[in-house]
Amino acid sequence: MFWDQASETLSRPLLERAQLAQLQETVRRVALSVPFYQQKFASLGLKPEDIQSLADVRRLPFTANDDLRAHYPTGLLAVPLEEPVRLHTSSGTTGKPKALLFTRKDIDQAAELVARSLVMTGVTRQDVFQNMMSYGLFTGGLMMHYGAEKVGCLVIPSGPGTSERQLMLMQDFRTTVAHILPSYALYFAGFLEQRGIDPRRDLAWRKAFVGAEPYTEETRQKIQQALGIQVFNSYGLTEMNGPGVAFECEHQCGMHLWEDHFLLEIIDPKTGEPVPEGQQGELVLTTLKREAMPILRYRTRDITRLLPGPCPCGRSHRRLDRITGRSDDMLIVRGVNIFPQQIERVLMAHPQIGRNYVIILEGLDDLTVEVELAAAGFDGDVEHVAALQHHLAEKLKAELWVRPKVNLVPAGSLPIAEGKAKRVIDKRSL
Ligand code: AMP
Ligand code: ZN
Repeated sequence: MFWDQASETLSRPLLERAQLAQLQETVRRVALSVPFYQQKFASLGLKPEDIQSLADVRRLPFTANDDLRAHYPTGLLAVPLEEPVRLHTSSGTTGKPKALLFTRKDIDQAAELVARSLVMTGVTRQDVFQNMMSYGLFTGGLMMHYGAEKVGCLVIPSGPGTSERQLMLMQDFRTTVAHILPSYALYFAGFLEQRGIDPRRDLAWRKAFVGAEPYTEETRQKIQQALGIQVFNSYGLTEMNGPGVAFECEHQCGMHLWEDHFLLEIIDPKTGEPVPEGQQGELVLTTLKREAMPILRYRTRDITRLLPGPCPCGRSHRRLDRITGRSDDMLIVRGVNIFPQQIERVLMAHPQIGRNYVIILEGLDDLTVEVELAAAGFDGDVEHVAALQHHLAEKLKAELWVRPKVNLVPAGSLPIAEGKAKRVIDKRSL
């Protein structure tokens, strides 16, 4: 099923020709109206007419996270201040957030991309869409909402409310599809289990769009099994409108990135040079059609790769592999590089492990993994707990090359965040 079949299946030569025209237009616009890019171009001796091919994108400057912060709130605006109709922000851990402004056309285009994404998973106007993401400055609420409304679903803006209320809405309105964080999906599965609700029997829920934070294939499997639904990976970031940047189609083999709106590059995060096709690197994105805040070569910090070959669905837009981590997520423990997702992969593949975990770093370099046991299927016998802790520590050591301490705790005892999960607590003194 297609929302915009012509755009989604545009032949590569036509798609690339359109990309080049939009890139040239974007570069001309920022050169005229955004002092930050004017200065960058001047220092590189670059003129808009130097961009003659898509490969010339490499001559353009990168835009970093910090550039957005430094030009908070409106420094990167390419239109007069009265043009934008919406603000979203992306908060970092410290300091000012990154502020993104959108014109009416920008919002409409973002909603189009979400509509395309939803329809390609099989969503229709018959669906009841429960949006369990937080509304407000975060894009996951409103941007997804606008796209789902465009498709014609009944949209329930439930936000991240209590599980009790989510369940009530889900039952009363026969929710069929939901947008939900992976960490919350796992938690919610536990909540349903506690209530004695069997989602396959008692709910109409069939699909979920899961993203906004990194998660592993093992976690996807766990969510699918626990809830009896199909989970589609959904990738986006505030700087590129939020959700609807890249999304899985019905074949669930990587996420089509909407290349008529975003020009993609995969680079080596250390050198800034492109990696050979198909290799892992940092995703870099340039907006091709945005009015209020065009962004050139945004360093997403997300690590992924392009998947080879065409997709059976017939879409010409290339597919990204699952995000394996963020380049700034990497932990260095006793001199070894560790990505939190390596830990998650080991934990979630184990049947006796439950649905929540946290990674704690303290002292000089002590790594502890605190993880909930599955609610059912484990007797809690002290010796059995000790044996399982030992077994997991060994498995983790084989994966990480560092032996963590493993603490098993009862199901439901670790805190759950209202927004994105905080998986790493770094209390190291160094
Ligand atoms: P935000 O701007 O707050 O929406 O955060 C965007 C970031 O969330 C991205 O740069 C990714 O690091 C992460 N993210 C979003 N979707 C996914 C996904 N499907 N898989 C992994 N990470 C994701
Ligand atoms: Zn496809």
